[in-house]
Amino acid sequence: MTAIRVAIVGLGKIAKDQHIPAIAETAGIELAAIVSRNASIDGIAHYATLDELLESARDIDAVALCTPPQVRHAQAATALKAGKHVLLEKPPGATVSELTPLIAVARQTGRTLFASWHSRFAPAVEPARAFLAGRQIRSVFVEWKEDVKVWHPGQGWIWEPGGLGVFDPGINALSILTRVLPRPFFLTEADLSFPGNRAAPIAARLAFSDDAGVPILAEFDWRQTGPQTWDIRVETDTETLTLSAGGSRLVVDDRTLVDEKQAEYRGIYRRFIELVASRVSDVDLSPLVHVADAFMLGRRRDVEPFIEG
Ligand code: NAP
Repeated sequence: MTAIRVAIVGLGKIAKDQHIPAIAETAGIELAAIVSRNASIDGIAHYATLDELLESARDIDAVALCTPPQVRHAQAATALKAGKHVLLEKPPGATVSELTPLIAVARQTGRTLFASWHSRFAPAVEPARAFLAGRQIRSVFVEWKEDVKVWHPGQGWIWEPGGLGVFDPGINALSILTRVLPRPFFLTEADLSFPGNRAAPIAARLAFSDDAGVPILAEFDWRQTGPQTWDIRVETDTETLTLSAGGSRLVVDDRTLVDEKQAEYRGIYRRFIELVASRVSDVDLSPLVHVADAFMLGRRRDVEPFIEG
């Protein structure tokens, strides 16, 4: 099988930190072009816009959209209609409903649409899912707290409508929860804290439940300085499972079952290659649905303005 020739669209933080190295380390896919308004990479074909790429580089098989969610729908639609396979960074869109026509175009054109959730490829996530599969769950507590000034410096889009604010990292926790918990769950209450000068929340407290009444609480906060927290704790009838470091460590009671460096994006590209080979899509919107619910049900609280500098 010849390697998939992929173009990265949007040469920002995640493209440079993760996509480019992961593509280089994965057999079956090669970086063939960059689409960027501002940047390029020596030795790789460069196009200023997606339209330019699609007109000039007809041998491209796929695009990886690493742009902000607010602009991704139009890019995905254009690429699919041009017969390209599409990998979407998370979150897959700025709205839930914009995915429906994309899924339809992918089906009509026989191309792959992959809504990637990188945290699901963290090394402890599948072992946690297997561990919880047969167990009775008593409660779940999620703490996803990081310093926005460290992780998202200068990212204006993240504070705009559709940028999701603290749900940009928080949705990673939800992508893990929706994968590891054995039953579906739903939002019952939410508090969203909006800085007076921003259109997106800086913190959120969410309460979920499932049909058995299991309490699931989540706290997302972007104001955490010092040690950062990306933890999920699940109390079962017999043991306590802790997934920490964003899904790279799994501890059950005091036994460490997994503790590995994350290599999430290699997993993403391996999955993309499989999907393309079989011409199927993978678009799980459940994490995005929970975020949409939070914006729908959440009580808004005004908090002090966020000043970046
Ligand atoms: P970023 O550093 O701001 O990069 C996004 C890139 O998209 C920009 O560098 C720009 O690339 C392009 N872009 C920005 N605004 C655009 C617009 N209006 N129209 C077209 N292109 C535009 O953001 P990022 O952190 O890489 O995040 C991108 C996506 O990856 C987000 O959905 C985020 O949730 C996801 N993600 C990020 C991380 C992370 O750690 N940062 C981790 C996982 C997932 P050009 O200047 O090259 O055109």
